[in-house]
Amino acid sequence: MSLELDRRLADVGTRFRIFPQPRFLQKTDGSGPLFAEPETVTVSVEPAAMRAGPGDDRMFVVDAIGKLPYNNFFRPPFRGSARPPVQPGQDGHFDQLDPSSREFSAATMYATVRRVLDIWEDYFGRAIQWHFESDFDRLELIPLIEWDNAQSGYGFLEFGFGRKPNGTIDHERPFCENFDVLAHELGHSIIFAEVGVPGSPFDEGVDYGGMHESAGDLVAIVASLHFHSLVDHLLDTTKGNLLTINGLDRVGELSDSREIRVALNSRRMSDVGDEPHERSLPLTGAIFDTMVEVFQQDLVAKKLISEDLRTRSTNLPGTAHDLIDIQAEFAAAYAGNEAAFKDSLLRARDYLGRLLAVTWGAVSPDFLTYHGILRAILQADREITGGENAEIIRACFAWREIAPVPTSMLLRQHTIANCGFVAGRGPAVATADSPTGHPIPSPRSNGASAVVRS
Ligand SMILES: [Zn+2]
Repeated sequence: MSLELDRRLADVGTRFRIFPQPRFLQKTDGSGPLFAEPETVTVSVEPAAMRAGPGDDRMFVVDAIGKLPYNNFFRPPFRGSARPPVQPGQDGHFDQLDPSSREFSAATMYATVRRVLDIWEDYFGRAIQWHFESDFDRLELIPLIEWDNAQSGYGFLEFGFGRKPNGTIDHERPFCENFDVLAHELGHSIIFAEVGVPGSPFDEGVDYGGMHESAGDLVAIVASLHFHSLVDHLLDTTKGNLLTINGLDRVGELSDSREIRVALNSRRMSDVGDEPHERSLPLTGAIFDTMVEVFQQDLVAKKLISEDLRTRSTNLPGTAHDLIDIQAEFAAAYAGNEAAFKDSLLRARDYLGRLLAVTWGAVSPDFLTYHGILRAILQADREITGGENAEIIRACFAWREIAPVPTSMLLRQHTIANCGFVAGRGPAVATADSPTGHPIPSPRSNGASAVVRS
């Protein structure tokens, strides 16, 4: 969401408080929680339009009593008994709630999902209609059930608690207060709504599954880069050296955050299998790297870092000594320019959000491949910037080994003989054997067949 819109919403929307990261994330020096105070966020709904729960016209919280998790036979809407809806303060806002109260947890769940939806609807430039709209008009949010798990499903998100080492429910760790988890689950809903699902039973959906998990993580990462406290902490710790490869040790305490760990991964396609979470890593990495490169490009344009430093930090340095030098140069560049670095990062964040929205609005779920996503991203960049970042995108995806699969028809070569320009051969006609219209020569045909591979 642009800084301008965020400022406008702050004047008209409803205020809540949210912890950017779970309270159990500790500072490495043991002096307390990493984010001890919740940050005030403003959702787009005006106080006068807020409903009980809290809720609005898109979603609502039900603090169910004695509820079992939904399953295939037990689905929304929840009709059992529930605690009274959380009420706003006298000014119509919810930022007065005590962070140790149950009401705070319930309000946080609403505010997080609403905030993430606001952010992504801005990138899409329109409302995102729920994929379950044929049955329900609003998303049901259930914050604190007695369950050591959480799930999203058709028309609902229901959240329990983390687990203690001895396997019992850890009431100190309610999932509904975990911004990353909620945002990731909402990311799945956005993909269902905007990309859809494969329609063919012959479609194994391997890359589709990886894309879904990657999208959940990217929705969460881009949304969490809207917390000023998180962005300031990230930049203060790294001095803007956000290169992902070997980057985890530079983000310090934030490396305990799952989403940051996922963004700063160094996996390539040859490192991963078909399991969706594992397979998501190279795609998430390629896309996060694109944002970092756009950020650094802007730093160079503003003369905050040199082109030479950018190149050296991008092309993996050979020695640990190089890494220390690069970090020292970033630290020198960052000192005194903190606000300008932050401005560049937030602009890169908004470019990435828009890039993903245009991409997801364009790709088909059927027989989806990572290479198809790469092409959709290049097309989205043409729409947004006129293609300014094409080289960055190509390089980031190439490093991750995201390319046409070896059997792709895109890799076929066509000689002019195949194309019917050589005397004695007819023009190309599409047939069942040759869907591209380029004849696949039989073993008896001339030697030109050697370059045609299927
Ligand atoms: Zn997921």
